[in-house]
Amino acid sequence: MSNLTRHVTWNGPIVMVGFGSIGRGVMPLILRHLGCDKSKITVIDPSTASKHIADELGVRFVQQAITRENYKKELKPLLTAGPSPAFLVNLSVDVDCLDLMRLAREVGALYIDTVIEPWPGFYYNPKLGSAARSNYVMREGLLALKRKFGEGPTAVSCCGANPGMVSWLVKQALLNIATDLNISHDVPKTREGWGKLMKKVGVKGIHVAERDTQRAKKPKPLDTFINTWSIEGFVSEGLQPAELGWGTHEKKLPPEGRRHKGGCGAAIYLERPGADTRVRTWTPEAGAHFGFLVTHNEAISISDYFTVKSGRTVSYRPTCHYAYHPSNDAVLSWHELLGAGGKRQTHNHILEENEIVDGKDELGVLLYGHKKNAYWYGSRLTIEEARKLAPYQNATGMQVTSAVLAGMVWAIENPTAGIVETDEMDYARCLEVQRPYLGSVEGVYTDWNPLKSRVDLFETAPDKRDPWQFANIIAR
Ligand code: NAD
Repeated sequence: MSNLTRHVTWNGPIVMVGFGSIGRGVMPLILRHLGCDKSKITVIDPSTASKHIADELGVRFVQQAITRENYKKELKPLLTAGPSPAFLVNLSVDVDCLDLMRLAREVGALYIDTVIEPWPGFYYNPKLGSAARSNYVMREGLLALKRKFGEGPTAVSCCGANPGMVSWLVKQALLNIATDLNISHDVPKTREGWGKLMKKVGVKGIHVAERDTQRAKKPKPLDTFINTWSIEGFVSEGLQPAELGWGTHEKKLPPEGRRHKGGCGAAIYLERPGADTRVRTWTPEAGAHFGFLVTHNEAISISDYFTVKSGRTVSYRPTCHYAYHPSNDAVLSWHELLGAGGKRQTHNHILEENEIVDGKDELGVLLYGHKKNAYWYGSRLTIEEARKLAPYQNATGMQVTSAVLAGMVWAIENPTAGIVETDEMDYARCLEVQRPYLGSVEGVYTDWNPLKSRVDLFETAPDKRDPWQFANIIAR
């Protein structure tokens, strides 16, 4: 499929809340791939940093912060300007996703976001405690709303690269391993079918294994947080407790591990910040390395989606978590921030495509513990490729923006699905839309396991009999 394909037409208003690194990267893809009318597109952001891009693209820019107090007043007239329905695209920080979903539902608009974002005051509230500040709790809120709403205008939750695309990659990776192991299978049609196939293939767990090697012309100065995407987003999730989907093969809860009292039961949290929790992982180019176990919605939703139950008893569930080595400058930025007791740097800077010298984002899923050991499947997109494919974004951004595009196309093609997580969408269709923007998409088997990444001069591995125990993966 060429990267000029017009996938669908859309006659209604498109209202984009937030025009930061992801919003300004998505917009050219919307204009390229959705047959829509520019005059019906509005972008809303309190910062004018990217207003010139909206002007260049010919879409209306409104300088405004969306708040708990004003969101209905500001957004309703735009969403009901007609022709109906409208599409609400939430790519902001500090704007509550569930409230925007409620509003979209009320006016019959389609909706998409890339994380479950709360109103300000949630992430850094010391009174809440770790369990209450978890993504698990936020996702349970989403699931409750999903049950309440049932069918109706489609609202796609958490549809970026991760969370988002990685849920589609997991399915393709699973089918590839099943084929390579000569396990007879059809492409499952139901959630139960996918869970049973994952169990049959013998996958113990999944890392969302990402290594970003993009580096800037200028080295990071002191007192500046540098990243390749939202710094507000990264700092808030990095200071949430680490969380992971907790598989049935795990023998022992980690010492700082805690279970939640209610909800789906698929995940645990650790009493420590994700950005200060290192895990051993592997990607094709970087090989073995440390990643941060930053909490992410997909760690919980993937583990939940592939859970197999007999009656109320869970008979199988894969472990799943993020293992993220961000750009070197971002690693240094965390080192500085955590070393200063969580004190935020004075300056934030997102690396733009024209200030990056080289590097790529290797973002994929590592399915481990089966008969072929481990298999990484994902996108390896260089900054040079990203620059050629579309404007205003680096390689990391493009893996996200193309997933937003895929989610919008799917929602327009399936307009009455109610609230959906990306695990529930047509993975093949979404990857087809995204494919032209992912660079090289590869599946690679490896004989790596976490026991091979230890420096055994000081301590022995907690479990030498099963390399894939989380106890071997987390660094102490
Ligand atoms: P960014 O920080 O570059 O941009 C966020 C934008 O939101 C900024 O322009 C900011 O001015 C605007 N904003 C802040 N408060 C607002 C308000 N009250 N009303 C309207 N706009 C407001 O972030 P980004 O990199 O563009 O990321 C956007 C969102 O996408 C973040 O929530 C981030 O966590 C998420 N994200 C998800 C993925 C994924 O793969 N799922 C990847 C990257 C980013």
